[in-house]
Parts: sequence; structure tokens; C-alpha cells
Amino acid sequence: MQKRLPRQIYALWGGAETVPYPSWQTLSSDMPLITLCQLTKTFSEGGQTRTVLDAIDLTVGTGDFVVLLGHSGSGKSTLLNLISGIETPSSGTVEIGGVDITALPDHQRTLFRRDRIGFVFQFFNLIPTLTVLENVTLPQELAGREKTAVSTHALHLLNRVGLADRAHAFPDKLSGGEQQRVAIARAIAHDPMLLLADEPTGNLDEETGQRVLDLLLELTHAAGKTLIMATHNPDIAQLADRVLRVQDGGISNQLSVIGNQ
Ligand code: ADP
Ligand code: MG
Repeated sequence: MQKRLPRQIYALWGGAETVPYPSWQTLSSDMPLITLCQLTKTFSEGGQTRTVLDAIDLTVGTGDFVVLLGHSGSGKSTLLNLISGIETPSSGTVEIGGVDITALPDHQRTLFRRDRIGFVFQFFNLIPTLTVLENVTLPQELAGREKTAVSTHALHLLNRVGLADRAHAFPDKLSGGEQQRVAIARAIAHDPMLLLADEPTGNLDEETGQRVLDLLLELTHAAGKTLIMATHNPDIAQLADRVLRVQDGGISNQLSVIGNQ
């Protein structure tokens, strides 16, 4: 990769290195994909400690579509960031596929995320200096995969999200919905088992958001992947296998989302 990359990229996907860790094949199918144990996150503010997530216990099964519903500031992004290992907890553990990612050194955790997890952000997080195609291939190029195969697969995915003809455009030439479709292609390009989406339609108009959501579900949940999505849209929650309300530092199962937002 010739172009200079923003620092944030290394935080998300690390450099061009690989490290060994337990493979998914060691996973038993009746074991939860995700286990959170007494997960706590506090932030210090003006000398005071604020507990955003307080001793959360949660398991998520393989293939589940889980929606995190909660008001702005309730801790949805913090929880997704902890599950992905972008942030580390104040205490407690996050286990994914039997791997305690909270026990991994920072660098290994980054590489674990790059190899096993896909992330879709509210504001797309595309790299403006890279083309659409380069955005999709970047994480895998950093992982040292063979360029031609990575590129062929990325073009196939861009075709699936209806953007093959924009492969060589730069992100700022694309609409918000198109940018998010590129971000979805990037998030699934390495065939992760776990997809995390943080308000993926939160910055799109209703119709565009619906199309992006349909596409995201088709390419992840319908393909057997585990999907955890933060939103404050109760209509999206209707589609989930499981709705969890994030509130007052805790998480509770919500059986009905109708009229409850
Ligand atoms: P949500 O995604 O549900 O809107 P967040 O997880 O972004 O909520 O934030 C939850 C709370 O944690 C908010 O009050 C926010 O201000 C606080 N918070 C998040 N990140 C930080 C941080 N790095 N430093 C201090 N406070 C933070
Ligand atoms: Mg958020």
C-alpha cells in the first residue's frame, strides 16, 4: 500500500502482521459465540468516575441477530467497542469463540478483530484518500493476503452491494447510502463470523436506511453470521431475534418493542 494511511486504521486493523491464536474450529457449536462476564466500563470526568456499563453478564449464540436498543448516551457504542476490543473494560471479561480477548495484549487483540470481526459504523469510516475498491481491500491487504485474490473478491462484493461500477471512485463522490454499502462490503470481505454495527442507518434517510438495512441483513444474518446492531429505531428491533435494552448501566431483555421507545 503506497498511500499514507490515517493512524486510526492501525487502531482498527493493525499493521501487516499475523499472530497465532485459537481457531474457530475449536468452537463447539452449542457454546455461545460471545460471553460477557461482569463487564464494567467507567470513565473519569472532572475528577468523578462515571459508570457507563455496570457488571454486565450476557451470552450471545452463534447466528443470532441481536439489537441493542437505548437512548443516546446509554452505552451502546461503548458496549460494541468492548466486544470488538476497540476499547478495554475497566473490569470483567469479553470472550469470543472461547478466546478471552480482554486477556490478549493490545496488538493481538487488534489482529483478532481484523481477522474475526466486521464492524459497520454510523459515519461509514471510509478512508477518503483511498478508492472504493482500496477501502474494501485494505484490511485484508494489511493481513498479508494475496492481492489479486483479495481484489477479485472485493469486486465480487462491490457487485453484490450494487457498486461494481464505482470501484475506482473516491468515497466523497458517493452518497451516504452508497458509502455505507462500501463499508458493509469492507466489513464482510474477510468473512468474519461476528458483525457489529453501530447505528448503521442512523445517518441515512428512511428509504436509503431501509435499503442498507435489508442488504446488511441479507449479507450477514441470512448468511448465518452473528450480528449485533445498536440502534434507537424500534422498527429495526422488530426484525431481531433478540432485543436488549441498554439503560442505566445495565442490559435487560426486552420482549416487546412496540410503543416502548
Ligand atoms: P450511545 O452509543 O448509547 O449513545 P456511548 O456508549 O457513546 O452511548 O456513551 C455512553 C456514555 O459514556 C456517554 O455518557 C458518553 O459521554 C460516555 N463516554 C463514552 N466514551 C467516553 C470517553 N472516551 N470518555 C468519557 N466518557 C465517554
Ligand atoms: Mg453510539
